[in-house]
Amino acid sequence: MRSMRLYAVPLLLLACCSQFHWGGNQTPTDFVGFQAQAQAQGLILELPEYEQTAEEVALSVTQVLAEADKELDAYAAQSMNAVNFESSIAALDHITYPVSVVTSRMWLMKETQQDATMRAACTEAVQRLSEWAVAVSYRVDLYEVCQVFDQMYRAETVGKLSGEDLKLYEETMRDYRRDGMSLSEEVRGKVAELKNELNRLSTEFDTNITDAQVVLRFTKEELTGVSEDFLVASLQESGDHHVRATTTPDYMMVMQNCSMGATRKALNAARYSTCKENNGPILNQMVGVRNEIADLLGYGSWADYKIEPKMAQTAAAANSFGEDLAARLQPKFDAEVSVLQKYKAEDVGDPSAKINWWDFRYYQNQMMKEEFGVDSDALRHYFPLEKVLVGMFDVYEHIFNLEFTAVDPGYRWVDDLRLHVVTDASTGKVMGAFYLDLFPREGKYNHFAQFDIIGGKRLADGRYQRPVVSLVCNFTPGVGDQPALMNHGEVETIFHEFGHAMHSILTEASYARYAGANVERDFVEAPSQMFEAWAWDPTVLSNFAKDWRDESKVLPMETIVAMEKAKAATTGIFYRRQLALALSDLRIHAGGVTDAGEVCNQTNTELLFAVPEKSNFAAYWGHLTGYDAGYYGYAWADSIAADLATVFENAPQGFLDQEVGMRLRREIYQVGGSRKGGESVRAFLGRPPTNAAFVKNLGL
Ligand SMILES: [Zn+2]
Repeated sequence: MRSMRLYAVPLLLLACCSQFHWGGNQTPTDFVGFQAQAQAQGLILELPEYEQTAEEVALSVTQVLAEADKELDAYAAQSMNAVNFESSIAALDHITYPVSVVTSRMWLMKETQQDATMRAACTEAVQRLSEWAVAVSYRVDLYEVCQVFDQMYRAETVGKLSGEDLKLYEETMRDYRRDGMSLSEEVRGKVAELKNELNRLSTEFDTNITDAQVVLRFTKEELTGVSEDFLVASLQESGDHHVRATTTPDYMMVMQNCSMGATRKALNAARYSTCKENNGPILNQMVGVRNEIADLLGYGSWADYKIEPKMAQTAAAANSFGEDLAARLQPKFDAEVSVLQKYKAEDVGDPSAKINWWDFRYYQNQMMKEEFGVDSDALRHYFPLEKVLVGMFDVYEHIFNLEFTAVDPGYRWVDDLRLHVVTDASTGKVMGAFYLDLFPREGKYNHFAQFDIIGGKRLADGRYQRPVVSLVCNFTPGVGDQPALMNHGEVETIFHEFGHAMHSILTEASYARYAGANVERDFVEAPSQMFEAWAWDPTVLSNFAKDWRDESKVLPMETIVAMEKAKAATTGIFYRRQLALALSDLRIHAGGVTDAGEVCNQTNTELLFAVPEKSNFAAYWGHLTGYDAGYYGYAWADSIAADLATVFENAPQGFLDQEVGMRLRREIYQVGGSRKGGESVRAFLGRPPTNAAFVKNLGL
């Protein structure tokens, strides 16, 4: 199936576009210039009018919902005799699009606004918008219109659909079925009731995790090995040190560095018993309710229900992927553990010492330091942020044949905000724009992510709305004369996140539902995950990784090789842990489980290490709400990413091969969700996907 457009109007516009050849010295330098250029190409490029007060936020939501409600009422009232694809299935995408644009903007503002009142207003706005969206999906009158079209289509009284239209039709009906809309009113009511119950339980589960604070007291001796800074920060008036088992940096500091086994053991047991009392029973209830919902909707299990719309499609496929990989990893896992065992045996003076859950991070860290001698802090000097950005832009511009132009963003939610317009380097076609919000501040989202602001879409009038996105990052700013520097992990991260931005911006999907990164959840990470490999490529790195104090000093490639070796020396344990989590999640959602905590404990013991006695790590595992029956997706996407990267590895210009880059743009980035992820992967690879590359990267 190929992505295609059925409408005459867009085809005409495309024909017009080809007459325009912008670029070269005609390239505008300001946003308004690009807007005019876009307009002449039958495209729309615009920045949102950002709300400035809580009142404006509330008003925007009220207005966009009122307008959408009015249109939906008219939609439901349309003459059933005149229903067609455009007036039924496609119209829903058109009508809900403005709501999705406001929702995206509110998400961004909730995470980036400097004023707490504004953030609170946006949080409330997001809540209102998502409640509205749920209510719309349950509107029987809207469903009835789609049903009329569905019956016509099945009776073949309307023409055959294909490509993106067919997918939209099939998936709209599938989602109605997944919501229980095709069941009797009684069963539907029961499903809705159970979903509310599930929401209530999930919120309670999440809140218990967020609120949990477990603090352990240790003496300085008991914390031998942790950093001086940590000792100072954790010191109490009593002379004891407080270690927060529920704060990840505290936990990792001790697990990786503290040489006292008893301290690590106590902290590990405390962390994996957190929320045992309250969330243990709640989790069992959640799993029970999920089973009931799956049963009412006619699925074998909750895992089957959740995985149906994803790339894996069935719980069986996800399971066998996990089980197979776990088995293949066994020898490498065993070998890694035996290396750690030698470290421990020597350390504690007992040749038969065993590696426990609370040991592996510590001995891994010891091994990294002794065998590979990588000082990741010293590497920062080779990665000044500005140079990394330029180097990364060069890569993406080159392989995707694009041009990025910095323009004045006008309104800025933070002073150092940047905006770039993306154009096609050959045709001058305006593709979209991205903001960069690079540094941390109070109240800001505290990880790294790409946020959609305006999603791509072919509008009802035929013009194409080009996407606008923002990268929201938290790099360490420069101090004094020293510029902002990145560590190597951050270089990987920016290549990854920028991949998401490109996925959004390069889209040509007709429907908002399929634009950009709106692909299967277990596929969405693969195209950007792949770009992390660029941060390890000597050719790519040598273009920008130079010591900022003396640019004649290029990053020594033996350091990269040492880092690669160090990484490879721990992948067995890393992925066995990923799979222990993935399979725990799949097993508790396979149906018939009454003690989820026990299933998770057993799975971890089987695949990784014995868990601390009487612990229940599942009770403190936030992924179980939202990522339920979905954790496998991390390793799944890693496997696809490795397969995709092989095409570059084998290309004449390697990671900088433009021909392969353009194929990637065409077959994966441009099509987005307009066809199934599996088909796009196959089209790019030119062969069926395999996990051979992933397995090889793992050193198997
Ligand atoms: Zn990502």
